[in-house]
Amino acid sequence: MRIKLKLIIMFSIVIIVAVLSTSYISFKSLESAIIDSQLLQMGHELEDKAHSIENLNARASEHLLFAVKNPVFVKYFELPETKAGNIYKNDVLQFTPQQRTLKNEIDQWIYNFQNMFSVDETCLIDRTGQEHTRLVMKKIAPDSDLSHEESATPFFKPSFQKNIDEVYLQYPYVSPDTERWVFAYTTPIVLNDGSKPAFYHFEIPLKSFQDLTKVDHGRAYVVDSAGYLVADSGHVYNQSLNSAPFGQPPKDFFPSISTISTSSEFNEDIRNMFASDNNSTNTGHVTYSGEDGELHYIVFERLPMFGWILAYEKPYSLMMSDNNILHNFAVMLFVISLGVIVGGLIVIYVLSDRITRPIIDFARKCRNQDVSNLQIINPIGTDKEINQVIYAFNEMIEKVNAIEKQKEEFASMVTHELKSPLTPIIGWCQTLKNPKLIGQLNSKQLNAVDTIQKNAKRLLQLVGDILDVQKLDLNRMKFDSQPIDVDDLLNSMYNNLQNVMAQKNINQINSTKEQLTVRSDRNRLEQILNNLILNAVDFVPSEGGKIEYGAQRKGEEILFYVKDNGIGIPPEKQKNLFHKFYQIDTSVTRKHGGSGLGLAISKGIIESLGGKIWVESELGKGASFYFTIPIDRTKTAKSEKVIDVKDQRGI
Ligand code: ADP
Repeated sequence: MRIKLKLIIMFSIVIIVAVLSTSYISFKSLESAIIDSQLLQMGHELEDKAHSIENLNARASEHLLFAVKNPVFVKYFELPETKAGNIYKNDVLQFTPQQRTLKNEIDQWIYNFQNMFSVDETCLIDRTGQEHTRLVMKKIAPDSDLSHEESATPFFKPSFQKNIDEVYLQYPYVSPDTERWVFAYTTPIVLNDGSKPAFYHFEIPLKSFQDLTKVDHGRAYVVDSAGYLVADSGHVYNQSLNSAPFGQPPKDFFPSISTISTSSEFNEDIRNMFASDNNSTNTGHVTYSGEDGELHYIVFERLPMFGWILAYEKPYSLMMSDNNILHNFAVMLFVISLGVIVGGLIVIYVLSDRITRPIIDFARKCRNQDVSNLQIINPIGTDKEINQVIYAFNEMIEKVNAIEKQKEEFASMVTHELKSPLTPIIGWCQTLKNPKLIGQLNSKQLNAVDTIQKNAKRLLQLVGDILDVQKLDLNRMKFDSQPIDVDDLLNSMYNNLQNVMAQKNINQINSTKEQLTVRSDRNRLEQILNNLILNAVDFVPSEGGKIEYGAQRKGEEILFYVKDNGIGIPPEKQKNLFHKFYQIDTSVTRKHGGSGLGLAISKGIIESLGGKIWVESELGKGASFYFTIPIDRTKTAKSEKVIDVKDQRGI
């Protein structure tokens, strides 16, 4: 059993390890395939976004450049009065009629453009920082509102550094006029002589840029090189932060990347994105372990605008939950693993059963061996190793049997030698008791001879019993097979026993009712019946003793019985009754004497004749002994198959 258990445990571990490792490997490869495809998909989405952002930027620039292509701008600045310099009255810029006509044309032109494109504010600023026209949300500013302090703006200088068809893009700021976050695009007005008297400027809301980062799953954001999030799908921006200082890049008013993660790994990732060589690919993907305990995947792309990074990130769970395959695969893997493990255990159980069954079988056969008659064990199953053990065991049995045989032969010889002198002793005692042959002995002498004879007879009986036991053990008892008239057998027994019965006042009944014939050994049957009846004689009460015996047919057998009204046998003693030398120890049985061999011999003979013996009794209620004898012994005789150990060795 322990072997079986060990095998099961060992194989289970092997199977489980195998299943788990293959499951793990396939799970991992599927997982990485899913991640790859997710990254690819995220990459496509990111590209689309970058494209839209680029598109917005390009459209704004094209719009700006197209707008300044209207010759009215050059015409306005080529006017001698414009070239002569600004004239103010009460700090308000004064326009000549000619200037006014052209300015109106410009205002109208800009107004139409603001209708076409979502521009918050447009203005025209000259080299002194004076606005010549301004439209805020399609409203033309009155002359008194035109600022002359625009030279302080951050885009002032850079705008003049641009050439014809070139656009300057200003980092986002809060426009003082609209109080909204904006980008400013500027381009110079270039006159025929190449001079740049003014530049054209417009603002588009940052929101239209930020809106482009919206994503359905995960988070997309735009980081600037200082680590600020100028756009973030995970953050709601206040679009009218009027406290932001105008004129400086108001980076501090954007959330920092630490609002996404403070992990150093993430910071490193962002730094590396900016560090990557501009000439090489501007896209890629990285990972970092987030504070939420998940691995985060980021795909990123560098935008041409300010060298900003557009990033799109998803945690592991989102990468997977967007995809049912892994879940289905895990379920499938679980079912298959369970199947393999259960199947494997069944196979192991069956296999180990095949291994241990012969061992258990062998152990059972060993245990069932009759020590007085050790039998060779047939090979069990086809397993060579186990049969080797059996062959070795059989060889040992052969040796033990040979020794036993020698011992038995010696004992048989001894008992035989003991028996031989007893017959003449008994005979001579008989002669001594006969006054005609030897002469009259006095009563003391007669008593002594009688005691010698009685004891010699007992000894002869005992030696005879021992010889019978040995013959039965060695299977050497010979049996006759003659037709027996059962009635005749029982009647002669009745007559022989009459004396004994009369002496003890026992009521002897032969209750056989049928005419029965049996083919068996008459002497042996007499011996058995004698044993049983004489036992009964010893145990019936001295007054009113009754012994009933007889035979009846039961199918193909004759059932003999000997019933008495004696002391009976307690049930717990009955199973040992037929063992050699077994005697029940009571005051009555002690008086009974005997060797404890009678029932063992009877059993041995009955079984050799092909029958069975048993007892039915209750303490104090008498005992009934039964035995069966086949009607024809020759048909049911026991035949033992003897296996030659030497043959086995050759297998
Ligand atoms: P023994 O030679 O001692 O009679 P047996 O084998 O014939 O040996 O009997 C074994 C024991 O069974 C006896 O010692 C006795 O105690 C018990 N026994 C046998 N027959 C009877 C019986 N008819 N009634 C009660 N006890 C019996």
